Amino acid sequence: MNILLSFDVEEFDLPREFNLKISEEEMYLQSYQGLIRVLDLLDKYKIKATFFVTLNFARKHPDLIREISEKHEIGCHGYSHSDDYRFEEPKRLTDAKKEVEKIIKKKIYGFRAPRGYGPGFKQLSKAGFVYDSSLHPVFIPGRYFHFFESRRIFKEDDIIEMPWGTSWFFRLPLFGFSFRNFGGLIYAKAMTRMNDLDYIVEGFHPWEFVKVTQKVPFYIKKNTGDRILKILEKYIQWCLSKGYDFKSCYSYLKDENIIA
Ligand SMILES: [Zn+2]
Repeated sequence: MNILLSFDVEEFDLPREFNLKISEEEMYLQSYQGLIRVLDLLDKYKIKATFFVTLNFARKHPDLIREISEKHEIGCHGYSHSDDYRFEEPKRLTDAKKEVEKIIKKKIYGFRAPRGYGPGFKQLSKAGFVYDSSLHPVFIPGRYFHFFESRRIFKEDDIIEMPWGTSWFFRLPLFGFSFRNFGGLIYAKAMTRMNDLDYIVEGFHPWEFVKVTQKVPFYIKKNTGDRILKILEKYIQWCLSKGYDFKSCYSYLKDENIIA
């Protein structure tokens, strides 16, 4: 089993979606502090992951993003987290990719759509991406309702789609939100065991690793901070005890010969 941990490194603009006030400074600080905690945890167990970063965040902390790129994979999470790539000018996305590539002095292969709104495979291919990891084939009504879409890696318009991990049949999701809301470690272990594929993409946000204090709905802030950090650490220990591998998305695709 390959565990593909991924983190969406973005300005914490979620309170604004609920019409709550949060300053620019607070938005970056929440993610920055969480990111430091996540990096320490991964270092402690010497495991690799993928970080999808917005250009906004990379501009704010270029040295840190460059440092992360020396150990982990950096992917693109758009220019600004409030962008909706169904409607943005294509240039905005290529600009974001190019500028982060300049910062890390490496090529970027992967894209994850901010808030789940991507430009479509054709546009991603034109922008020079190799894979996309934005699809949640899960059973959550609303924005992320993609129950009938594939759980497995597939290719369309030259883009490899790596859907987020879900359990077989019921398609229960495995990401930060579900780790925090659906019974923590027990849930995470059960969902990993129930997975019939040889890999799981698991998505988290660095902001989850610092206690959320804004008046967002309870399910958004539940178990943020120390609690999710502890759950993720216990989960990592359990995966290592099972002999599972931790990889970045790109190295998984290479190791499985899905890309040359
Ligand atoms: Zn995001």
